[in-house]
Amino acid sequence: MIPQLVIFDMDGTLTESKSVADTEMVELLRALLQKTTVAVISGGAMARFEEQLLVSFLGDTSHFENLYLATLNGGILYSHKGVAWEKIYEEVLSDDEKQKIADAFKKTFEETGFKPEATIYGMLIEDRGGQVTFSGLGSEAPLEIKKMWDPDRAKRTILVEELKKHLPEFEVRMGGTTSIDISHKGIDKAYGVEKLSEHLSISISEMLFIGDALYPGGNDEAAKRTGIETREVIGPEDTKKIIKELLKS
Ligand SMILES: [Mg+2]
Repeated sequence: MIPQLVIFDMDGTLTESKSVADTEMVELLRALLQKTTVAVISGGAMARFEEQLLVSFLGDTSHFENLYLATLNGGILYSHKGVAWEKIYEEVLSDDEKQKIADAFKKTFEETGFKPEATIYGMLIEDRGGQVTFSGLGSEAPLEIKKMWDPDRAKRTILVEELKKHLPEFEVRMGGTTSIDISHKGIDKAYGVEKLSEHLSISISEMLFIGDALYPGGNDEAAKRTGIETREVIGPEDTKKIIKELLKS
């Protein structure tokens, strides 16, 4: 029996890290969408889903009525309504909370002596609605330079430790190559899985989660707390094998 909902992590599962999904993956996903409901969950915002995944569908949205996108680890859930993506729900930070986070960054920069780079691409601190994201070189920085900014995470470790002191009631975590994400506590892949269950009225026991980081400390590990059945993969090629198995079932 094919699961009623198959949930995929994106980076390292459907695509190589920070890369675009290939043609075969898109064909397999489209075949799967004809048989069951599919969701993709990632810590990234919608722009990342567009750049890494949706772009590969080349504008062909057939069967997208069965596709759900859980961005920001399920902080926002999107469904495709006819022609466009619409938010089913969105976790938001209040204005007071955003102000508190802005103040915490200011204090943290002072206390740690952190000086933003002279050139910032896009925004240093970005309000994403349900999440505030700091990007060391700015939200629009090219990946090649980003990779060199904090490869050992040392810069961000200092900032994260200090931010946590000021924001104990929030989730403060490192994401991507240069970023620090701040959101309400408890928004992780377990939250995303539970929201999918609630909004799609599908029991978690009828779902399958496929991810490359289900190991302890990995960014898919949280999903296991929900009791969902999981399959761990080592990369997109491995994921394709599982989709082929599912298509035969
Ligand atoms: Mg991953």
